[in-house]
Formats: sequence, C-alpha cells, structure tokens
Amino acid sequence: GNWLGMLGGGQLGRMFCHAAQSMGYKVAVLDPAAECPAGVVADLHIQAAYDDAQALDRLAGLCAAVTTEFENVPAQSLERLAQSVRVSPDSRSVAIAQDRIAEKSFLARAGVPVAPHAAIVQPGELEQAGNELFPGILKSARLGYDGKGQVRVASRAEAIEAWEAMGRVPCVLEALVPLASEISVVVARNAQGQSVAYAPSLNEHRDGILAVSTVEPQAPKSAQAFHQAAARIAQDVAHALDYVGVLCVEFFVLNDGRLVANEMAPRPHNSGHYTIDACISSQFEQQARVMAGQPLGDPSCLCASVMLNVLGDVWFDAQGELREPDWTRVLGVPGAKLHLYGKAEARRGRKMGHVTVLGATLGAAREGAREAAAALRIPFDV
Ligand code: ATP
Ligand code: MG
Ligand code: MG
Repeated sequence: GNWLGMLGGGQLGRMFCHAAQSMGYKVAVLDPAAECPAGVVADLHIQAAYDDAQALDRLAGLCAAVTTEFENVPAQSLERLAQSVRVSPDSRSVAIAQDRIAEKSFLARAGVPVAPHAAIVQPGELEQAGNELFPGILKSARLGYDGKGQVRVASRAEAIEAWEAMGRVPCVLEALVPLASEISVVVARNAQGQSVAYAPSLNEHRDGILAVSTVEPQAPKSAQAFHQAAARIAQDVAHALDYVGVLCVEFFVLNDGRLVANEMAPRPHNSGHYTIDACISSQFEQQARVMAGQPLGDPSCLCASVMLNVLGDVWFDAQGELREPDWTRVLGVPGAKLHLYGKAEARRGRKMGHVTVLGATLGAAREGAREAAAALRIPFDV
C-alpha cells in the first residue's frame, strides 16, 4: 500500500497531498465537489458524497490508511472505513472534537483547565446557569468554525433570546474571559504512543477568523513558562485520547497569566501552516508519516515566521470590484512564501491562501509581513 486516503478536498487536504506526494505516496481524495483544492492535485479524486458506501469502500480498498481534513465528516463514514482500513484519528477522537459539550467535558476530566462554562441542551438550563457565566459567549455545540455559530451575550436575558434565535440547538455557554493572548500547539502522535509538539504559535483573530500567526523558535523569556505548559498539555490531551495523527489545541492566555484550553482540532491547523516553511518536518508531513506507519519527523523550528491568512476580501477593491491581488509585490518581499489554494472563486471571508514570511529574527519576519500585508491591503498591527 503506497496509497493514503483523505476524506475532504479542501486546502488542508491539498497541503497534505503535496507533503505525501513529495515522499512518494499516492493520495486518493474523496470529495463531492467536481473541482476542489485537494481533488485537483490528488492522484485520484473520488467524486462522491462523504457517506456514499461504495465510494468509501473503494477508498478503503485502495489505501493503507485514511484520514480526514475537516471535523464534520459523518461519524458513520469513519466507522465504515475503520472496518477495513486504518483510520486515524479514530472516530472517537473526531466525535469528541466535533461536539463542544463532549470536548469541554473531556478536557475537564483530563485535568486540563477550561473557561467556566455550562452545557445548554434543555430549556431551563440557561435560567439555572451561574451568574459568573455572564457576560459570556453562547456557542453551538456542533458545526461552528471561524466564529460562526456563536453569539456574545451580555446577560441571561440576551442568552435566552440568542438561544431561541439559534433554534434551541445544543450549546455551550462560556464566560467571556479576559484574554492577554491566544496561542495554539500542534502535536503529532503515532500508533506507538510517541509524540512531538511544535513551537506554539501566537494567534491574532479578526472577525472570528485567524488572521496572523507569529512563531519564534525560542519563545521570549516572558512566554517560556506558558509555552512549555501549553506544549505539555497538548501532548497530554493527545495521550488521553490515545490519539493517532495530528492534533491542534487552542489556548487562551489570561490577563493573570493562567492558561486555559479553548478547543481542539483533530487535524492539521491553520495556525500550524508556518511549519511548512519554518520547520524541518511540516504538520502535513507528520500526518503522512503517521498514516504510513513511518517514524515521526523532526518538528524543530528553524527560524522566526509571521503567517498572514489571505481571505477572499483581498480580491475586492474599494469599489467592491473583483481584481487579482498584486502577487508580484508579495513575492518581492524578502522571506515571503506564498501559498494559494487554487479556489476558483474569491468570496469575502473565504480562505484563499496564506503568506508566511520567514526571518532570521522575529523583527525581520514582522518587517516583511508588514510589507506583504500592505501589498494585499490587509491591516497589520502586530
Ligand atoms: P475556529 O475557527 O478556531 O474553530 P470557532 O468558531 O470554533 O473557531 P472559538 O475558537 O471557540 O470559535 O472562538 C473564536 C474566537 O473567539 C477565539 O479565538 C477568541 O478570540 C474568541 N473567544 C472564544 N471564546 C472566548 C471566551 N470564552 N472568552 C473570550 N474570548 C473568546
Ligand atoms: Mg473551532
Ligand atoms: Mg478556535
């Protein structure tokens, strides 16, 4: 088996294809779209629904192992695949990460600090929620990403109104916590239980979407303690899940210096894209290595980097007309590495690509990122 399988044809699948193919593996992608970022670079694109039994069996028959690039893949699909092929991460880990209620209680049971919260499933649970949860954020338990499916609520009355407006879907109500910063850690863990953690990235969000990730090989003195703690917690979480594959854990660093886990993603993560250009082995290479049963790669980070997400907004000028961004100017920035995902149509808020600017020092990487951001007319104030 030289074939590796991917459920989902988005940009994470595409970057996986690149990494796996460069090591000589062939990749089969299952995605219902005729043209998708991973489908067009895969060795085989099986165009079918994620729950198409025949397509799943074909993928399982072809591949040595199968993974997924998005959380919301139907659990039954993973279970069907698992009957005949190695699936990593397993459906249990994915199920926990798919559901904020399960995720929060799993983290709390594993001894990982989380923000004060309550599960809201039944009418009445909002009436009984503790006062310490207001002001808070009401987050749908399922299907939320990039800040979608969540509402900030100042009071209990607002929360009740918001929950009604959301159609009373299961939610987590979380206290709004005072953020000093947000960081995330990507870990890779193999079937033998060995794991490696990447240098944490410092993340800045805009409108609920990751905008900028900054990473230094060596954290500044003031951040070393919580970077180490975050890396340890992320590896502990992977161990507690008996996780096989690549996992990302997002953290809040609170104003008082405490670290709380926010959520996890059972796959490579947007904040880990810097690993493609700045690390010995990228998060996608690790994913391929783990699936193929090969040794874990070296996660060492070789230089400082600043990653800018490139959203579809960048294609619209001040008049709202579509025009191609100035890639020549971006590519002219010292240390800039451009990654475009091959999406046909630019839409506002849609992730179209990213630019990682590398530097011998963080200052140099920031200077380059400022130039790249100016070329793309993205605000940059890091
Ligand atoms: P992702 O795209 O990362 O999966 P998501 O839609 O699942 O995003 P969260 O990560 O839960 O959403 O929240 C999005 C952002 O909202 C966080 O990165 C943080 O900036 C802010 N946020 C979320 N929860 C809280 C909280 N309890 N207190 C303060 N800020 C919060
Ligand atoms: Mg999320
Ligand atoms: Mg998040």
